[in-house]
Amino acid sequence: MAGANEGFASLSESYLFPEVARRIRAFQEKYPEKRVLKLSIGNTTEAITPTIARAMEDKVRSLSRTDTYSGYGDEQGESALRTALSRHYLKEYGVSIDEDDFFISDGSKSDAANIQQIFSNESIVAVQDPAYPVYVDSTVALGRGGTLDQSTGRYSRIVYMPGKRGNGFVASPPDVHADIIFLCFPNNPTGAVAGRRELEAFVEYAHRENAVIVFDSAYSDYIETEGIPHSIYQIDGAMDCAIEIGSFSKNAGFTGVRLGWAVVPKALKSDDGKAGLLHKLWLRRQSTFFNGASNIAQSGGIAALSDEGRMECLGLVGYYKENARIISEALSSLGLSFTGGKDSPYLWLECPDGLSSWEFFDHLLSKTGVAVTPGSGFGSCGEGYVRISSYGHRSDILEAVSSLKENL
Ligand code: PLP
Repeated sequence: MAGANEGFASLSESYLFPEVARRIRAFQEKYPEKRVLKLSIGNTTEAITPTIARAMEDKVRSLSRTDTYSGYGDEQGESALRTALSRHYLKEYGVSIDEDDFFISDGSKSDAANIQQIFSNESIVAVQDPAYPVYVDSTVALGRGGTLDQSTGRYSRIVYMPGKRGNGFVASPPDVHADIIFLCFPNNPTGAVAGRRELEAFVEYAHRENAVIVFDSAYSDYIETEGIPHSIYQIDGAMDCAIEIGSFSKNAGFTGVRLGWAVVPKALKSDDGKAGLLHKLWLRRQSTFFNGASNIAQSGGIAALSDEGRMECLGLVGYYKENARIISEALSSLGLSFTGGKDSPYLWLECPDGLSSWEFFDHLLSKTGVAVTPGSGFGSCGEGYVRISSYGHRSDILEAVSSLKENL
């Protein structure tokens, strides 16, 4: 009999979104005439823009003819897409990255999980608390989590970096050793962004501890505040201690199309101080276990990085940011305390009257029909907060906001 993988078996139940769905179903059964207004989903809702859609249509047409058909491509990703990404980083962030340092993937969630495979089994992982769940779950699945404390939901071998009101939800580097540090800015779920100083502190920490930062920049196009870095490589010294994972999901609407990238620089050092090994191992990992992202999606990605594509994508981002502004205005008018919603599609709302995340979730749903995401599902520091998402059609956002104003 084959035994189960102990790492996977020790993953805590992922009950956040199923439980949200169960409570919404129960509400709908009780009040069939009421519409649930979902501000709980981190999924895009608006159409892919014309330039990108055209490029993908053209690719499909070329695949339908023998003389223009192509099969497997380069596992690292199409050279034209890696060149476009390299130009994009230089043009928009002033950062020079060799196109060979880009690895195209089917999205940043896979990269966030898979990247851990190139590090030693003993690695200590540090995560922000609250955090996007895949960082903790991939750590645990690979057997690096230690034991779960049921009362806090925390694992004994993971280093947690708290994001609280007192630090503006921007964690500081830990005061203990870690080997791999997951950072995500603009942050899901809190919507917080990190300034240059704050990121410099992490780069200094990584140099001191021979650690590697995995920087998740999935929401970088949502940043509007001047001076906030969009990429970890805008910080001096990051090239030899940081990996960056990026995505076309939230700026180009590729949540279903699937396309992302990882930057694993040749300059990145492993803990022996040598550059090149981690880059080589990631190349080996991808060419062994991955056959490349869809060529249709990659054509869309190239178009998304063209001048026209960029303009359209920023327009799409602007749509969700306007949603976030509308929600922010409503929360402010209700005197509620929240952060985010400016450089991010997410708002992080403090539950009023000392209510827990789930208590406030139930209260909001029953009073207003608005569903949000309980912050406690993202880590113990998320208790007492809920995440509000601005992904939705404008009409739905306006309906949700007027229900909040009338009924809360
Ligand atoms: N990183 C963060 C912080 C996210 O919130 C998400 C999706 O919600 C992802 C990565 C996943 O992106 P992708 O669709 O590229 O896998």
